[in-house]
Order: sequence, then structure tokens, then C-alpha cells
Amino acid sequence: MIKVAAFDIGKVLLDFDYGIFVRRMAPRTQMDVPALDAFLNQSPLLAQYESGRLTSSEFFTVVQKETGFDGTEAEFAAYFEDIFTPIDEIITLQATLAARGLPTYTLSNTNEMAVRHISRAYDFWPRFTGHILSHEVKALKPDPKIYEVFEEITGCLGNEIVYLDDRSENIVAGKNRNWNAIEHRNGADTREALICLGVLP
Ligand SMILES: [Mg+2]
Repeated sequence: MIKVAAFDIGKVLLDFDYGIFVRRMAPRTQMDVPALDAFLNQSPLLAQYESGRLTSSEFFTVVQKETGFDGTEAEFAAYFEDIFTPIDEIITLQATLAARGLPTYTLSNTNEMAVRHISRAYDFWPRFTGHILSHEVKALKPDPKIYEVFEEITGCLGNEIVYLDDRSENIVAGKNRNWNAIEHRNGADTREALICLGVLP
């Protein structure tokens, strides 16, 4: 019997493109687009931020110092906000599950700047029962710690949990705990999987 649903955010509820951010920001730094992309995505900096080891201000200060960005923290945050596109099919699916009385939680690798924006911009945010976020938990998926925190907060274990995520390493971590982990590829397949599990009619 499934008692709770966990939703990844990136590429499940919201598509995102860091390329937009990098292309807009690069002209205001001393780096070109490939160098800035490598700095942000291939350095450990983003992982440090998303695992809560750097605050937003600390993250911004490092980015400013290393890239020569000439704007303010607010301008930087604004560049960060424009990278998302809602995935309506999954947003609707979450609303349906919530309306049917199933508790739903986000379970996501993310950061305070992104959440500040997403929580204000999208009406799905308050439809969730709660949010289990890497920068607050101080652990990134697929680290078992964030899955353990999910189990503690929801009071659910193993096959009581259905979990949607687009990344296979995260799905493996869920399956290792006997969660019903669905590797999200498209809305139709994910919907079918939820029907098979009996959480959708
Ligand atoms: Mg994702």
C-alpha cells in the first residue's frame, strides 16, 4: 500500500537549462561561455552550494571573485531564475495525487536561490505536503542520508513510497531501500507506472 509520493524537481516537475544562465552571465564576467560553464558545472562549487556547505552569499562571493562578475547578488539571482520551464503533465499528475489524498513531497538536489524563486513562481509548490531539499538536509542524492531523512519525516518505508526521478543513480538508491522508484522519461510512461501501482485510477 503506497502511503506517500516523492518527486524530484529538475527534469521531472521543471525542465531547466543552465546554458541560458551561462550565456546571459558570461558577458558580465571575465570568462567566455565554455570557461564559465566549466567553472559552474564541473567544479565542486555547485555541489558544495547544493549540499548546504555554502550559503547563497558565500556561493555568490566565490563566483564573483573567481569569474569577475560585475553585478550584484540580486542580479546574479535573477539570472539564475530564468532557466526553468514547467513540465505541465507531471505538475498536473502531482495535483491529482494530492487531490486524491496522497501526501506528496519534493525530494531534490537544489539550492536556496532556486527554491526562493520556484516557491514563489509556481503554484505546485504549496500543493506539496512538504519539501525535502539537499541544501537543507545537507546531503545530495544519491547519498542515502537524504533518503533516510525522507523516511523519518514521512514516517514511511520501502514499498509504502513511490518515487519519481530522472537520474538512474538516484533511482538505484531508491530501489536499494525497496522504494517503488520510477525512472521518469515521459509523462505517458510515468502515468502508466502510477496506474500499475494503484495510485492513479
Ligand atoms: Mg532531476
